[in-house]
Amino acid sequence: MLDGTHASASRSHRADPDCPDCGEGRVRRVGAFEHVRCGFVDVVAAFDADGPNAVCPKCDATLAPADEDLRCVGFLYDCSSCDHRFDAPVSFASRLPRTAESD
Ligand SMILES: [Zn+2]
Ligand SMILES: [Zn+2]
Repeated sequence: MLDGTHASASRSHRADPDCPDCGEGRVRRVGAFEHVRCGFVDVVAAFDADGPNAVCPKCDATLAPADEDLRCVGFLYDCSSCDHRFDAPVSFASRLPRTAESD
């Protein structure tokens, strides 16, 4: 968990980038998830719902947190200052094969 309160002091050893939009360092890494069944990919917040389960905003399917149809495909950075979202500087796509579980 990054709280950002000591971000300026820790920049020398953390690789978290500054926001390319507003230049602030209030950036946190968030998981990107794919709904395998329909191909929708977004950060976990996009699947947010009122209940304990997630809901795919594309196909309206209800997804349990441990549902195998919902899988983590990588990470994005999310700026808490301006809400800008951007891909990780480390190649986002190159992480994809590492999520393979039992296929
Ligand atoms: Zn920003
Ligand atoms: Zn879906």
